[in-house]
Amino acid sequence: MAKVGFIGLGNMGGPMAINLVNAGHHVEVFDLSTTAMDSVVAHGAVAASSANAAANEKQFVITMLPAGKHVAALYLGENGLLSAVDSHTLMIDSSTIDAATARLVAQAAEQKNIPFMDAPVSGGVGGAVAGTLSFICGGNVEHFEHSKIVLENMGKNIFHAGDVGAGQVAKICNNMLLAVLMAGTSEALQMGIDNGLDPKVLSEIMLKSSGRNWCLELYNPVPNVMENTPASNDYQGGFMVDLMLKDLGLAGEAAQLSQSTTPFGAMARNLYAMHSKGGNGSKDFSSIFQLFEQDKK
Ligand code: NAD
Repeated sequence: MAKVGFIGLGNMGGPMAINLVNAGHHVEVFDLSTTAMDSVVAHGAVAASSANAAANEKQFVITMLPAGKHVAALYLGENGLLSAVDSHTLMIDSSTIDAATARLVAQAAEQKNIPFMDAPVSGGVGGAVAGTLSFICGGNVEHFEHSKIVLENMGKNIFHAGDVGAGQVAKICNNMLLAVLMAGTSEALQMGIDNGLDPKVLSEIMLKSSGRNWCLELYNPVPNVMENTPASNDYQGGFMVDLMLKDLGLAGEAAQLSQSTTPFGAMARNLYAMHSKGGNGSKDFSSIFQLFEQDKK
């Protein structure tokens, strides 16, 4: 069993750290919020007095922070996290951040001969609790193989996307496509409803036709078309609009840097921004359906 430092114990990091404890690892944790720390310590983790103390003399350090600026502030600088570890510690950042910051941190780590990987996740809070997350990793193959000792206790699918930063890029490509698919599926279903169709029947038809996609298969955005979806639970649970908006912002930045043409991604970002401004930021992202529905009210 490994010695692990875990920093950032929020909605995702908390249950991920608990799964490592449950798998038998020695887990030392730190968060700026004492409430977040207490809930993980109650499951058997050890409380550290600082992030650097949590990271010191560990085989793995996992960070799960809100955004790139938090990651840069934590890792870099004279007294940053990289000053508390050596070449025996594999640093794994699972936050969803811009690839440029991931590469900047990786460069600083390399200068000190410290192994670093970006490993953002998909699967949401439900996946974090159940230990079924997908990890999308960027880093060298050796580090990737080594990381499975801990990642397999928190996730079901562990992917190697390429070099450092590739995990972040793969994740935002996927989420940009997901947002486009969810908005497109919503607009098609609402047009069917406006023309007198039953959304259940239309969904069945499209599921067996060329419009078939993940949203229709597992995550229909129309209330009461499928059981156990956020749409059938007042858009509660699932993946929040504001987190999708954050990922679409990262996708836009990445597209600008690589001079990629992403008109549908840009449109999806604007639709999600409008929807969030309408007071829907904490609803599930399938609630984008309501934007099309409201047109008729
Ligand atoms: P969260 O806001 O619930 O948790 C972040 C935690 O980091 C907080 O507890 C905060 O106190 C802590 N923190 C911030 N700066 C810190 C520092 N310097 N030292 C120690 N602790 C610090 O966020 P979350 O929902 O757990 O998401 C974490 C990351 O995972 C984000 O990058 C998010 O985009 C990504 N993500 C979230 C979901 C989701 O459904 N929530 C899904 C996939 C990916």
